[in-house]
Amino acid sequence: MKFVNVLERLSNACGVAGREDEVRLLMTDLLTPNVDDVTVDTLGNIIGVKRGRENAPRVMLAAHMDEIGLMVKNITKAGFIQFTKIGGIDDRILIAQKVILHTTTRPLTGIIGSKPPHILKEEERKKVLTADELFIDVGAHSKTEAREMGVRVGDPISFDIRFVQLGNDAVAGKAFDNRVGCAVLAAVLERLDDADCTVYGVGTIQEEVGLRGAATAAFDLAPDIGIALDATVAGGVPGVKAVETTIKMRQGPAITVADRGLITHPKVLRLLVDAAEESEIPYQLETGLAGSTDAARIALTRGGVPSGVVSVPTRYIHSPVSMLSLDDAENAITLVLAALRKVSQTF
Ligand code: ZN
Repeated sequence: MKFVNVLERLSNACGVAGREDEVRLLMTDLLTPNVDDVTVDTLGNIIGVKRGRENAPRVMLAAHMDEIGLMVKNITKAGFIQFTKIGGIDDRILIAQKVILHTTTRPLTGIIGSKPPHILKEEERKKVLTADELFIDVGAHSKTEAREMGVRVGDPISFDIRFVQLGNDAVAGKAFDNRVGCAVLAAVLERLDDADCTVYGVGTIQEEVGLRGAATAAFDLAPDIGIALDATVAGGVPGVKAVETTIKMRQGPAITVADRGLITHPKVLRLLVDAAEESEIPYQLETGLAGSTDAARIALTRGGVPSGVVSVPTRYIHSPVSMLSLDDAENAITLVLAALRKVSQTF
């Protein structure tokens, strides 16, 4: 399958943190033909291993499968659904969104209700409604009907956005953070045939709520090196200053130097930068982002694991719909492959 089609399927799938099943099934299909073995661990991380020569370094590539979303918190008497946020979501982008409630019986469409401008008071116009003031309307008459429709407290809720291609290289869709990392991981394992290291391709769970799956998977695998494959904030749009981020879409994948949870191990940074330069792959160095990735958790596993991050610059990250360049994703794949070929010389 072409990369863009893989990304489309992954993006359209739902995997709100803690409920990654649909994405894990897709990842099982994508990894199985290209690795020696696929397993799912106790918490739900999927691990595809491609074995290298004996005693070669063991590399953990981690792409989180979960996405930000919402969860049913309460159903009002009148049948409206109040919700809690799962992961870092800006309250301003919630209003008037179309969402899908994933009940145990069937998916339900809902609308996050808004008050029409006609009846908004002057001070209400200026105010941002917080998540706890908003509600989802599934068209139910009452709490009883909402329950009959299958709604239960704890049901995961995702944004209802379908993947779309824009122009020659850009695509827009849901949850590119981090379905693009999952798609890059699958492509790396598909194309990797000449590295002597052992590669664990791990689709991790619950990254958005605290890098949780990476913690147990890294402990279990005890790799020599960790590389997180993720999406990162792309600036280069009106209102974003270079001092906030220098990373832009269409300038190549980002190699993290430092973020809030990780200062990239110098050997891993060297490996990634050398791989990019030797293969003439465009790349950008990223520092100081107020977020983090699975690499932060992998790095602190057991006695420590030298770790780094390769990410695809993604506009409008952590909103219902984001945008990225397929060329950046392709260059991320090439960069990771080039790094894997060099691992044995470095470690
Ligand atoms: Zn992410």
